[in-house]
Amino acid sequence: MWYNTNPMQDIKDFNLLGLEQLLLSWKSNSYHAKQIFSWIYQKGARDFNQMSDLPLDLRKRLKENFYLFGFDLAKLLSSRDGTEKFLFALKDKNFIEAVSIPAEERITGCISTQAGCRFSCYFCASGTLGFKRNLTSGEILEEVLYLKNNSKEKKITHLVFMGTGEPLDNYDHVLAAIRIINSPDAFNIGARRITISTCGIIPAVKKLSKEGLQIELSISLHAANDKTRSRLLPINKKYPLADLMAACREYIKNTDRQITFEYVLIKNINSALPDARNLSKMIRGLNCKVNLIPCNTIEEQKVEPPNKLEILLFRDCLLKTGVNVTLRRPRGQDIEAACGQLRLKYEKS
Ligand code: SAH
Repeated sequence: MWYNTNPMQDIKDFNLLGLEQLLLSWKSNSYHAKQIFSWIYQKGARDFNQMSDLPLDLRKRLKENFYLFGFDLAKLLSSRDGTEKFLFALKDKNFIEAVSIPAEERITGCISTQAGCRFSCYFCASGTLGFKRNLTSGEILEEVLYLKNNSKEKKITHLVFMGTGEPLDNYDHVLAAIRIINSPDAFNIGARRITISTCGIIPAVKKLSKEGLQIELSISLHAANDKTRSRLLPINKKYPLADLMAACREYIKNTDRQITFEYVLIKNINSALPDARNLSKMIRGLNCKVNLIPCNTIEEQKVEPPNKLEILLFRDCLLKTGVNVTLRRPRGQDIEAACGQLRLKYEKS
């Protein structure tokens, strides 16, 4: 059986159907799959031995073949504002980060999808270390599980795929993880509370529009002309703005969902009033909103946010032209958990 070729496989790489098939191939009962799911994703089991409603021999066999957790916590940083950043060492000694951002009675988890990133955006620290590899769906789920198990009082209600990496460059694993995050048998986090953020991989945006998922899509736009956008996001040379906007229109039509455009404001690059006017013109008529994010300073890249006045003028220009716009202030800056350090912005200012 292919399941047994690797004696130490991550059980979280299995979806419910896969687990049911595994159990049947072991001449066990497929209904144990739901129990296993519940132990892992709902009851926070740390060991197969804890799964007390499973037959003993099944627990033993699971333990011989699978592991439940593969990460080592390399570092935990806590911010004054309650944000916590986890640095995990993966089994192959690559490192990834996940962030927990508390608001009143809920927590938003910010999740990485790749070790490193291959897109080298001008203002983002992730690309500077290069690309290592895609995360498996089990690893993506382990980030969520870790945040969940770590937080005693508040529940994780929202997830944003805005950590390191490009989610749509690791499409299959991210989608497999999302289906489990969304499943009532596992985390049961509503699709509308899950956000994928992308630099604009057009074929993947098109594919996503046909998945029948109610998730939120954010497009990292950051410029309204190709010259500036290609400078900020080199991927724009492959997927230029006109094509990206066409893909967004198609996405909105296919899903009947609103898109969010993320716009990181960077001094002397994309934050002048003509930029705001171009942006407004470009997205006119689209069912969308714009999220303005004053950039976090990244020393190596020499990017700085504009001053407060310039930020407000930019926002007001969008407002006046009827754009649905929010201005966000970053969280976790003192622990480098903020966007581009570990890009994270999650509270309305
Ligand atoms: N690759 C995906 C997701 C990771 S980045 C994407 O590009 O969307 C998540 C968000 O953080 C993106 O909108 C990204 O543009 C933003 N970001 C990156 N560096 C930043 C910085 N220095 N300041 C503010 N936001 C930043």
